[in-house]
Amino acid sequence: MKTTIIGFPRVGSLRELKFASEKYFRNEITAQELEQTAQQLRAAHWNLQKEAGIGLIPVNDFSFYDNMLDTAVLFGAVPKRYRDLHLSELDTYFAMARGYQGTQGDVKAFAMKKWFNTNYHYMVPEIADDTQIFLTGTKPFSEWQEAKQQGISGKPVLIGPFTFLRLAKYTGEKTAEDFADEAAAAYCTYLEKWNELGAEWVEFDEPCLVMDLTAAEIDLFRRLYQKILAAKGSVRVLLQTYFGDVRDCYSTVCKLAFDGIGLDFLEGKQSLSLVQANGFPKEKVLFAGVVNGKNIWRNRYDKTRKLVEQLKPFCGEIVLNTSCSLLHVPYTLRHEKKLAEEYRKHFAFAEEKLTELSELSRILDAADPAETAAYQKNAALFAESRNCSNAAVQEKVAALTASDFVRLPAFAEREKIQHAEFQLPFLPTTTIGSFPQTAEVRANRAAFRKGEITEAEYVQFNRRKIAECVKVQEEIGLDVLVHGEFERNDMVEYFGECLDGYLFTEKAWVQSYGTRCVKPPVVWGDISRAKPMTVDWSVYAQSLTKKPMKGMLTGPVTILNWSFPREDISLQACAYQIALAIREEVLDLEKNGIRMIQVDEAALREKLPLRKSDWQSDYLSWAIPAFRLVHSGVKPETQIHTHMCYSEFADIIREIDDMDADVITFEASRSDLTILDVLQENNFRTEVGPGVYDIHSPRVPSVEEIQTAIKKMLKRIPKEKLWVNPDCGLKTRGEAETRPSLKHMVQAAAACRNAK
Ligand code: GLN
Ligand code: ZN
Repeated sequence: MKTTIIGFPRVGSLRELKFASEKYFRNEITAQELEQTAQQLRAAHWNLQKEAGIGLIPVNDFSFYDNMLDTAVLFGAVPKRYRDLHLSELDTYFAMARGYQGTQGDVKAFAMKKWFNTNYHYMVPEIADDTQIFLTGTKPFSEWQEAKQQGISGKPVLIGPFTFLRLAKYTGEKTAEDFADEAAAAYCTYLEKWNELGAEWVEFDEPCLVMDLTAAEIDLFRRLYQKILAAKGSVRVLLQTYFGDVRDCYSTVCKLAFDGIGLDFLEGKQSLSLVQANGFPKEKVLFAGVVNGKNIWRNRYDKTRKLVEQLKPFCGEIVLNTSCSLLHVPYTLRHEKKLAEEYRKHFAFAEEKLTELSELSRILDAADPAETAAYQKNAALFAESRNCSNAAVQEKVAALTASDFVRLPAFAEREKIQHAEFQLPFLPTTTIGSFPQTAEVRANRAAFRKGEITEAEYVQFNRRKIAECVKVQEEIGLDVLVHGEFERNDMVEYFGECLDGYLFTEKAWVQSYGTRCVKPPVVWGDISRAKPMTVDWSVYAQSLTKKPMKGMLTGPVTILNWSFPREDISLQACAYQIALAIREEVLDLEKNGIRMIQVDEAALREKLPLRKSDWQSDYLSWAIPAFRLVHSGVKPETQIHTHMCYSEFADIIREIDDMDADVITFEASRSDLTILDVLQENNFRTEVGPGVYDIHSPRVPSVEEIQTAIKKMLKRIPKEKLWVNPDCGLKTRGEAETRPSLKHMVQAAAACRNAK
């Protein structure tokens, strides 16, 4: 059986691409040197796949920043404001990705959004009425040729036209429909080019097909591909879907002239039954996504074998595939030096998944799979007990009752009590929590981790940073302060390391956006809090100021969503376990004099199921209660804040209000401000701080700009409910831009107060 993957992580096993790119941004290396690193990485990744025996090796899965952005550039969708900078091709690309502020001008970056239900973010292409979509770039072709020189006839992968048009933002009057013909023509030219070059398979990724689709959308999909497939010539076209099943358009997909169809049999709850109920066109190749591209547990071979055996009667050729791109898992277990074998043997990262695919292919080809060593070893692994349960934790979860999820008194009464308690000016200013993670901050943590400095030295350094941070905030004039989160590598990993039941890794990075990577911890067993996790830092920070110091925690849903979850208990059970642990921390903070506590639920929105019919049953029914469980035990005067990244929660606005926090801050500046209308229409009860400037870019916003944003907000949000803050935490920013940005923010808030 042949094997393939959809994409391989591109930042490199030691994040080489991240570091090279950042050096390039700082002008420390040339574009050529950056390109060299990229080439080496691509070569290494192809080679790994070749050695593992992967039959169809993807090309163009590489990206300097993001594949959606690559696709926009490939088809000439570069907005005028970036072209007008007259930068090199690469720098124009990075200007779209990161914004640009320099001698050539001042432009903001493209908007960024979560890629379906993952923690990866894509750049949202912009299409204006006068945008012309046609093939202008060469990236896929040159990468293919690069692979060719290495003796690899690659499978070029590209975001398909349906997903591209559907996820793009239309800045004028025109819509996706209006660009359908042009886009189809551009993809035809793309296929012609592959005919010239002689590629065997060409893959189009259409993850949008796993969402709820209207008849009009299915029709658009059909029309696009009728045109495109007419131009396929002698290349074979693979339609690849992932992150779910294609129940709304299965028959349409089967009828079109694709040569291969890629289905996800893991997240696609109905993929198997769709094939069983409707059959599968025998002349097409089924690319069966059976190895999990999103989680790090080993594949269970007996299960996978059974699944493939169930598919066989319906299909001609089957190619074994991952369920989605391996972009969403870490690169390799090889660098995990500290992970004991008893744990390690249960995991497979990207590299190990390549081996799984080839082992599976051999197992499925064998006359008697049970005879193969790989199969036996795998069966033995899954027969073992993992030794991961904690009876006390399970009992606590089982004993929860309805009242554990309700905070009293009700919101309105608390709001009054808190206004009297804190006496904040209207439009209170604050930040989201983290301050710049400078090189010395990271070096301090690293030195401590490696045992190069003592705990006392480590703590002393962080205390100094906290003191500086408090001083800076007081100088700037912020109303509600934070300690700066210098002790945290990452808002989830930090808690993972403090909680029992978690495992953490050394180098298991996963790309989050651009050069930013996260290292999700692994939920290994039942979760509990071994000891206070943040109390000392917060208490120290509060001791330095009379202003309220926000305690800073990560919420259970986010901790879970940004971890690699267990597959042997439900997400709900796991979320409640984490919630109980965070609840203990909340109560400890309160007991120690912290009067405002922020519980970040940055990732609550992102795991909302892609299909609306699953929202309540699969997710919200436990995610919202998990958050409530965290804070239902605090006093009325303790103010609970929460923060969410991204503002796309219009459709769950009621549930967000129902989390019953006192204040919520969220991203708003990079997306349009339509969320404000939604808040107004729904009489949003929670006090809100929609971010007034974008922290994902080093650009310093002007006072006027921020003032304009606040004024817009004041039109929709009652002034006594509005907070003023940046979009998100400042950890990815430099100190140089942070101070002026915050100063401008405080000045803008003051100006708005005075104008009233
Ligand atoms: N408190 C966190 C910080 O400021 C929140 C980060 C996030 O929302 N991603 O970094
Ligand atoms: Zn955020």
